Amino acid sequence: DNGIGNWPTLHRVRHPHRVALIDGVTGAEYTFEQLDLRTNALAAALRVRGVGKGDRVALVTLNSPHMLEVMFAVAKLGAVAVPINWRLQAPEVNYILRDSGARLAFVSPQTAALARAAAEDTEVSELIEIPSGDQRAAGDASEYEDLIAAADTERVVVDVDADDLSMLMYTSGTTGFPKGAMLTHANHHWNGINNLTAGDGVGPRDVNIASAPLFHIGALGVITLPLLYIGGTTVVLETFTPDAWLAAVEKHGVTVAFAVPAMWAAIDASPAIATADLSSLRFGISGGAPCPVVLIESLNAHGVRFCEGFGLTETAPNVCVLAVEEAIEYAGSVGKPVLHVEMKVADDGGREVAPGVIGELLVRGPNVFVGYWNKPEATAEALRDGWFHTGDLATCDEEGYYRIVDRKKDMIVTGGENVYASEVEQAMYRHPAVAEVAVIGLPDEKWGESVTAVVATKPGADVSEGDLIAWTREQIAHFKSPRAVHFVEALPRTATGKVLKRDLRLQWTGDGS
Ligand code: ATP
Repeated sequence: DNGIGNWPTLHRVRHPHRVALIDGVTGAEYTFEQLDLRTNALAAALRVRGVGKGDRVALVTLNSPHMLEVMFAVAKLGAVAVPINWRLQAPEVNYILRDSGARLAFVSPQTAALARAAAEDTEVSELIEIPSGDQRAAGDASEYEDLIAAADTERVVVDVDADDLSMLMYTSGTTGFPKGAMLTHANHHWNGINNLTAGDGVGPRDVNIASAPLFHIGALGVITLPLLYIGGTTVVLETFTPDAWLAAVEKHGVTVAFAVPAMWAAIDASPAIATADLSSLRFGISGGAPCPVVLIESLNAHGVRFCEGFGLTETAPNVCVLAVEEAIEYAGSVGKPVLHVEMKVADDGGREVAPGVIGELLVRGPNVFVGYWNKPEATAEALRDGWFHTGDLATCDEEGYYRIVDRKKDMIVTGGENVYASEVEQAMYRHPAVAEVAVIGLPDEKWGESVTAVVATKPGADVSEGDLIAWTREQIAHFKSPRAVHFVEALPRTATGKVLKRDLRLQWTGDGS
């Protein structure tokens, strides 16, 4: 059996009593033996409901150890898990349910109404509720536990091949309709190997904290799945708050942690960080969006050994990562490729460009997805000549360190010059009044596009548009500096912390494309 569903079984044989998952709400621990037996039972219960190889099973759930159990049970059947962002609106969830053809959905009490509305006119025939953290803490009976208790814990034997699909992961949709990236069992297997063999990889003695939403590849694939593969422990938080995160790290002796930059910024800004004991933490890693260099510096000053990596849903996700000891010296770089990944920066013809020159980042390796579900054109566009075209602009220096410059679609062309939003943002983040900044190009008769900054200031800060423009012009070239600054309370973001630049463009022009 080459499937990821086999991972709990392998560990049950080797060390049945080692803890695989900890419920961050109740403190309940699940050993690898329990994980294997419970997911066997869940798989049997799903099979009774007609779920077989290749069938899609949706998850519209808040984080819990059970969400991971469902993924393993689905994998044991050779079926395909479809984790869905529960912060989407019902029509958006409906789109994913229809596109994937899911037959069944797991939900949380908090998402049940959304899922019910979204399931109309789809093939979803049943919603199964995973109990909420509060319900688990109260020890309430639940449909989910009844299902497991009533089913056979004998393993259902299904022939699963490494190249079979294990997951349809929908991209966040920041650049248009979400696309279902088809990930195979082999993709997760190789992503695991790539993580374990990275300079600051995880090992079986590590304790991880899953605090970002597990419907996103970052929370799931950077550390959590690789650690389950190697037999370590993951604490699962239901929702993220910086104080809950800091308390859980201390309580469980967490050694490794992934979060997106917006979460790390909240941790860094929490007054509790001053007194929290984070000495167990070997490293923290950021990815999913550009991380302000000032944040990397600040977290390191707080004693958090911290580095940045880069990845995408389509690569399951680990592509490259900076070593922790290089975090300050090479701040702003996303490091070098992990073991079984090749990267190159190429021009529009796919030819590698010289060191330091900006081009599109291409990726190749056994962790690269096999295409977009139901989207042959998008697949043909993304997977060309054996390389995955990421849509990100990057550079690689003489030493082989990569930098992400911008998403291709976010590059601004003003007066014939290319301006990379992230460079302007990095500069503006250094202004003490700036809490959040996004730089976009707005249509301009004279310049083609004009560089525009949208800024949320820190509480109590007093700064004007003119101040910020003048200040930025001292840091970077005038043509790159914003011509206008709009102030907002907070930037619109996806559930995984990405700024919705499309929404910002729409707000000021009526055109988000
Ligand atoms: P969609 O394609 O629907 O807009 P998405 O690309 O946002 O969705 P993800 O796979 O979650 O979906 O995000 C991958 C993207 O995140 C990358 O292409 C890149 O633009 C960005 N990203 C990830 N890590 C980093 C990083 N360390 N620095 C800069 N950008 C990053």
